[in-house]
Amino acid sequence: MDKGKLLIISGFSGVGKGTIVEKMLEAFDNYKISISCTTRDPRPAEEDGVHYHFISKDDFEKMIENDELLEHAKYVDNYYGTPKKFVDDCLERGDNVILEIESEGARKVKDKMPEAIMIFVLPPSARHLKDRLVGRGSEDLDAIEKRLNKAVEETDAMKHYDFFVVNDDIDTAAKNIDKIVSNTNPDLPSEDEVLNIKNDIINFSKGE
Ligand code: 5GP
Repeated sequence: MDKGKLLIISGFSGVGKGTIVEKMLEAFDNYKISISCTTRDPRPAEEDGVHYHFISKDDFEKMIENDELLEHAKYVDNYYGTPKKFVDDCLERGDNVILEIESEGARKVKDKMPEAIMIFVLPPSARHLKDRLVGRGSEDLDAIEKRLNKAVEETDAMKHYDFFVVNDDIDTAAKNIDKIVSNTNPDLPSEDEVLNIKNDIINFSKGE
């Protein structure tokens, strides 16, 4: 049996990566999502073992020591990491595995597994991103500010990605990602469109 493909999906906080991934799991039967470990507190609607494995900093450090993580990174004020065994087992069984992770971890995975497909999800505009972060109501203004600043930092990492997908519609974005994986004519933004969105995020943070 062919091995599965490893898919890295990154994008600014609030861009809707989680919803796109949920849609992919619902619409297609050959994808599995890797559930990360994190030291951050659960948001109201999040469940342990479903959205994340919520663990203490001590337990996280033990996993690093025991080499149980494929990668890990610090994002804003917390640690996040990908358990290695689940990914290996799925790929071996022929399932495609989705890692929904930030850009530093994404690069570490790509170094270890160069065949991984790296996809960066973009909002249609900076305003969409801010509205989504405010609208989901899960962070206070200070945390939203930090996440927007982090988005500007992450624009620099965009150069490491193989594909960009604009999330102006969840279904279309999910289908496009599946088309990238199966190599069947995805509808992707032009280089200019990607650059415009990137500049919009950078300028927005300067209050322009
Ligand atoms: P959030 O706190 O919004 O759930 O996640 C914050 C960021 O951490 C997001 O960009 C998310 O993709 C990323 N993230 C989630 N899990 C992992 C992981 O296992 N490793 C890395 N490097 N980043 C992760």
